[in-house]
Amino acid sequence: MQYQNSLAFAKQLDQEDSLAFLRDEFHIPRDAPENSGGKEWIYFTGNSLGLQPKMTQKYLQQELDDWANLGVEGHFEAKNPWLNYHEDLSIKMAKIVGAKPIEVTIANTLTVNLHLLMVSFYQPTKNKYKILIESDAFPSDRYAVESQLKFHGFDPKESLVEWKSRKGETLLNLEDLEQIIQNQGDEIALLLIGGLNYYTGQFLDLKKIAAIGHSKNCKVGIDLAHGAGNIQPNLHDSNIDFAAWCTYKYLNSGPGSLGGIFVHEKYAKNNDLPRFAGWWNHNKKTRFNMRMPFDVMEGAEGWQLSNPPILSMAAIKASLDIFDKIGMDALRAKSEKLTGFFEFLIHQLDSDKIKIITPKNPSERGCQLSIQVKNADKSLHKKLSANNIITDWREPDVIRCAPVPMYNSFEDVFQMVSVLKNLINEQ
Ligand SMILES: *Cc1c(COP(=O)(O)O)cnc(C)c1O
Repeated sequence: MQYQNSLAFAKQLDQEDSLAFLRDEFHIPRDAPENSGGKEWIYFTGNSLGLQPKMTQKYLQQELDDWANLGVEGHFEAKNPWLNYHEDLSIKMAKIVGAKPIEVTIANTLTVNLHLLMVSFYQPTKNKYKILIESDAFPSDRYAVESQLKFHGFDPKESLVEWKSRKGETLLNLEDLEQIIQNQGDEIALLLIGGLNYYTGQFLDLKKIAAIGHSKNCKVGIDLAHGAGNIQPNLHDSNIDFAAWCTYKYLNSGPGSLGGIFVHEKYAKNNDLPRFAGWWNHNKKTRFNMRMPFDVMEGAEGWQLSNPPILSMAAIKASLDIFDKIGMDALRAKSEKLTGFFEFLIHQLDSDKIKIITPKNPSERGCQLSIQVKNADKSLHKKLSANNIITDWREPDVIRCAPVPMYNSFEDVFQMVSVLKNLINEQ
């Protein structure tokens, strides 16, 4: 695509954008009226907390009303009966991550799910016990993995293997992973990797990672927190063993909302996998007989433990209904164009004060661009915020910017870079 550096061109792209109407379906935060007349923020942090769909309130109200009017009968009599509330959501979620319905459910929260999945897929033996993560893993993932190692009696110093980027580089290289697995694969039980790195925005080739891990009989799990609703991970075809993600980032389901679970179909009927149990992963046909011995459910539902919070589920439903209407293909097509335009405009600044560290190849990234700032000068991020441009600063020296195709416009991108240009020239 041939981009032009002008506001008129940005406006033309918005006019031609068949998804432009979606912006109006979201609450866009605004400045206080007394400051700038209540101007809308340029919100580039949908990778951290997605914006609220206007319909969410209605979906929540439905459940509040059913609870008010039906009490416990709502489990069966609500407009959307609570007992099976998640089933329709799992089908929609499966489409978003490229999985079969039996492979996906929505339950618990992300870090909790990583632990529950490790109960099943991290089965260390005396000789095969190490866990591999990427060296710049999200802290929660690192803590989770370290605590699993300790729980099984291993010392993370010796048993946590890190896949690092090469000296002088920021991105991960699959050849290095291959090398580690060749050398230490016999001792590694599990690879747990962020499929789309929260810091650099790099989207890894999941199919290759699965093949590399499986070549030495390691289990392969993926944290998709920054991937779900952003890129198309094709989880089933990738052949990874399991994945977990949250729904409050690109999936716009509200702060702290529930997480998604993927377990590959090849385990759907494997009742022998070790796992933790509760009544919600017990066979739903006999769940209410109450006195049956535990009989695990097939598929990803076999990792649910508790009956889910319907109010959180309602917010997920509001969001997934939008995703379902639009489809990931259309969203992704816009996303590539939007981020491509953003990248083009930043390159036009031709400044040595900032550098994009996210991969150039659209198939190796989602919508986020991570801008590395020279001398780790944090003031640039502060000044962007003072101009109502919401990005986030990640230590040591990166401003993360995520133009989200669901509600950000080409004009947002143009305005953001115009302000950035002034701020850089001022310095
Ligand atoms: C956002 C994020 C988390 C957050 O985990 P919660 O359990 O939802 O608090 C964990 N890991 C990664 C990679 C994330 O991006």
